[in-house]
Amino acid sequence: MFNDILKFVFFLFFVSLSPHPAQTMDDDSADPQTNPVKKIVVVGGGLAGLSAAYELRKQTLVNHIIDLYEGRDCLGGRVHTHYFNGNKQYYEEGATWIDQEHSHMRNFAKELGVPLISHGYGSKNTIVRWNGQEYPINELLDKFQDAHKELQAFCKPLNLDDQNSLALHSRSSLSPFTKALMTTCYQDETGKSIDNAPVSSLKFIAERLENFANLATLKNLNVPFKSYCLQAIDWWYSLYRYTVAGGASTLIEALHKKVKDAVWCNLNHKLTKITRKADRFHLSFETKESEKKEVIADYVIITLPFSTLRNVQIDDSIGLRENQKRAIRDLPYGTNAKVGIPLNRDLDDLILYLNLDNHHMAWSGGKNVLTLHMNSNEGKSLSPKNIPNSVHLLKQNFQKDDTGEIAQKNWFQDPYALGSYSTFKDDGNSIFNIPSTDYPGLQRFAEPIDNKLYFAGEHTDIAFSGFMEGALRSGQTVAQQLAKAVTRKVAQEH
Ligand SMILES: Cc1cc2nc3c(=O)[nH]c(=O)nc-3n(C[C@H](O)[C@H](O)[C@H](O)COP(=O)(O)OP(=O)(O)OC[C@H]3O[C@@H](n4cnc5c(N)ncnc54)[C@H](O)[C@@H]3O)c2cc1C
Repeated sequence: MFNDILKFVFFLFFVSLSPHPAQTMDDDSADPQTNPVKKIVVVGGGLAGLSAAYELRKQTLVNHIIDLYEGRDCLGGRVHTHYFNGNKQYYEEGATWIDQEHSHMRNFAKELGVPLISHGYGSKNTIVRWNGQEYPINELLDKFQDAHKELQAFCKPLNLDDQNSLALHSRSSLSPFTKALMTTCYQDETGKSIDNAPVSSLKFIAERLENFANLATLKNLNVPFKSYCLQAIDWWYSLYRYTVAGGASTLIEALHKKVKDAVWCNLNHKLTKITRKADRFHLSFETKESEKKEVIADYVIITLPFSTLRNVQIDDSIGLRENQKRAIRDLPYGTNAKVGIPLNRDLDDLILYLNLDNHHMAWSGGKNVLTLHMNSNEGKSLSPKNIPNSVHLLKQNFQKDDTGEIAQKNWFQDPYALGSYSTFKDDGNSIFNIPSTDYPGLQRFAEPIDNKLYFAGEHTDIAFSGFMEGALRSGQTVAQQLAKAVTRKVAQEH
């Protein structure tokens, strides 16, 4: 008993000294005797968690402290830059591109003072290696237009019920370029042979090529993703993009600088269990040294990908709804992995390298490093012992002397990610095709519980899931919701 009193006295003393908003406030109402300090815990130090913390800090909530807990030994999560050769070269292990329409990300970078580099498809320096040959970008776009005409003529007489697209395909007089394009589009994501592609998929590829053929108007089109297998085309479609100068991790560093005076970021704390007792949350963490630590919180923001949250013991006392339980259990995650190949020559601009081994895409998205992006089983099984042939091909083409140093990142096997990113769409138009009718209330899985437990992360922002934009928006949104709930509660208590 005496110990408890002593602890409480120490707690009040430390709270009054701590660099938390509770003490930075010069508001008289912040008297711990009358207004006991409340704790907000953010779990996950990726973009969603950090941006939630930043937004909460901006709200300067009286008598509330904010603590963040992160399982890894660094912040950033799936935003992580790998630096080579004394930081002179780098590539993005995770997120790379900020699309034109990712307005929150672009504004956020500006707010943090982090410069972005723009990459336009029209740049004259852009070279594309397509199917083993090098093309200037405009020449390739012309070829896409020709392919569109060819494919349209090919598809016109086909009946959607035709099962024999293989026979039709092999007997057709399609040019090798068009065949290669179709093969990449279909095979890239499905991992299946184009020979068995249903006619509907071929027609869809033809349809997307039509958008291509008219690149100038593309920006205004909002074509639903009927199938993710068209990633290659889609990638071209939104080629006007930005990257973070110096690497995306510099954005995380800048964000951390903004919050660290008010938010204590505890690294090496893995969430293992969460329960609710007397309206407060008890969170169990495992530290790097396998020690157990229990943290009690009044409000919690969980930003873990559901792929890892499903391994956390969530007690019934939390009161998860059925749709939330199901989403945590089932939400699918991609298999994307990356290899970074440092080059010993400067790349002035974007280089794209498509159709490597029919499955991979590569680009120069960092600083003098080629990035190989792969998925499906190759992505899942990437390891130092299992480097794909494409790497050797790229080295032959782009590296004069083999420096031997490459980096690789398998997100599927990363215990704090267990997948690359969620590709959930509630309209049934994702690769996973979950029709919302089969999944009642699924799109509302991220709604808070009792305005006390919140979910954020890329997966919770349906419009921008799978992107930094989604992670950022979700973090900002839940922080604003939580701040409102806190203000309401404080008003009720007075
Ligand atoms: C290969 C790849 C390519 C990508 N390309 C792009 C791109 O070009 N453009 C784009 O916009 N986006 C891209 N993304 C997606 C982007 O990286 C994510 O959408 C975004 O970073 C997710 O942020 P988040 O905060 O939601 O999740 P995370 O960054 O995963 O943050 C969650 C945090 O929780 C931590 N954590 C997990 N489990 C626990 C636990 N039990 N206890 C404590 N902490 C835990 C993790 O370590 C992590 O730091 C890519 C992702 C990958 C993997």
